[in-house]
Amino acid sequence: MKISVVGTGYVGLVTGVCLSEIGHNVTCIDTDINKINKMRQGQSPIYEPGLDELMVKNINEGRLHFTNVHKEGFENSEVVFIAVGTPQLPNGSANLQYIEAVAGQIAQEVTTDVVVVTKSTVPVGTNYRVEKIIRENLKNDVKISIASNPEFLREGSAVQDTFNGDRIVIGTDNDETAAILEKMYKPLNIPVFKTDISSSEMIKYASNAFLATKISFINEISNICEKLGANVEDVANGMGYDQRIGRNFLNAGIGYGGSCFPKDTHALVQIAGGVEHDFELLRSVIQVNNNQQRLMVDKIVSKFGSLEGKVISLLGLAFKPNTDDMREAASIVLAKELIAQGAKVKAYDPIAMANAKSILPEAVIYEESVSDVLQNADAAVIVTEWDEFKNMDLKGLHRVMSEAVIFDGRNCFDEETVTGAGIEYHSVGRKSIYSSKSLISFQM
Ligand code: NAD
Repeated sequence: MKISVVGTGYVGLVTGVCLSEIGHNVTCIDTDINKINKMRQGQSPIYEPGLDELMVKNINEGRLHFTNVHKEGFENSEVVFIAVGTPQLPNGSANLQYIEAVAGQIAQEVTTDVVVVTKSTVPVGTNYRVEKIIRENLKNDVKISIASNPEFLREGSAVQDTFNGDRIVIGTDNDETAAILEKMYKPLNIPVFKTDISSSEMIKYASNAFLATKISFINEISNICEKLGANVEDVANGMGYDQRIGRNFLNAGIGYGGSCFPKDTHALVQIAGGVEHDFELLRSVIQVNNNQQRLMVDKIVSKFGSLEGKVISLLGLAFKPNTDDMREAASIVLAKELIAQGAKVKAYDPIAMANAKSILPEAVIYEESVSDVLQNADAAVIVTEWDEFKNMDLKGLHRVMSEAVIFDGRNCFDEETVTGAGIEYHSVGRKSIYSSKSLISFQM
């Protein structure tokens, strides 16, 4: 099948590459010519495990193409995916300007019958808006049908998720359109859930809002655990055995970030507001998440009294491991707050430093390795749970750091590992551990 994908971000590029891998002829379109030139050479502009290899393979086998000229990309396509960004507007709602621009381009440039599929996360009613724009501006005599097909991949495991998704949601008002998309996805062998367009659009927001709620719920529990001397990991494990609850997304920490949960929760509050429904629960979820990062700063301040002149190292900058995405990362809030309190902030991330440099305050000092970032630090904050940090030798910390104090925002270490490591260790929803150096020397 000849397919085009408009927008080559985390969703569009991965979708395009994976569809070419299952045998389709795919053209990925982006307005960013630098990205196009890079991708034509088989280099992904984003970090996503396994993506570069698949790109190179499918380019070489002639099934994957890139262009910045929409007309060229749409030529003979049976399906056109819209996968451009829907970022947050200042009032919290989704910015649909990129979606609407693509709808206008489709109207002007398609020359054959086509199914237009919105993969971007869009508020209920957007697909009909896309259809209206296309119909009102259609230049050629072609048949257009629309479908909603929200995306559930996770950055960091996007390729793996595309081939092994839990479900593919297809929202259409038209059986023929659904059949074309089912046929297209058939080689993936993933269950297809068909519904109407509005429900499909809502499934995406409801899913992200529910996952964000799980995270904020366990974070609230963690804050209570800290005050009562309970251990949130044990609480989550104990809860997780219950199949109605499940253990996934019950990891306490410094909150969710990234390009989806923050903006999608805000957008859903706005969508609800649009029909005069106050989504009180979701507003609280957002509030809890915002507080969670500040609570970590409070912990650091209460340890030192004043942060003036203190050297604080940030371990990890990306919003989660295995991605270079810095959008809404906890590191942004932490770096700003710590610098505002007078701290000297050093940072290291295995992949996201290039992106971080344009986002974090200028005062942040970037280091090239874990050992460099820890050198002479008064404290280190684990912001992103990269394996590199989880495998860190805690016993050696007191030799490199001025004070071996760790604030673990992701609960990377268990009590047994920390006890006897000669460090002061503060995590989320668990007791702090003060293990003495004398015990270390005894153990060594
Ligand atoms: P992104 O910002 O990484 O990429 C968007 C791309 O679209 C950019 O490369 C941009 O240059 C391009 N673009 C903008 N206007 C264009 C136009 N008119 N023609 C061609 N290209 C154009 O976005 P993303 O993270 O891939 O997200 C895309 C959508 O998918 C969003 O709605 C997002 O909410 C949703 N989504 C994202 C994820 C994720 O993990 N990132 C997961 C599920 C759903």
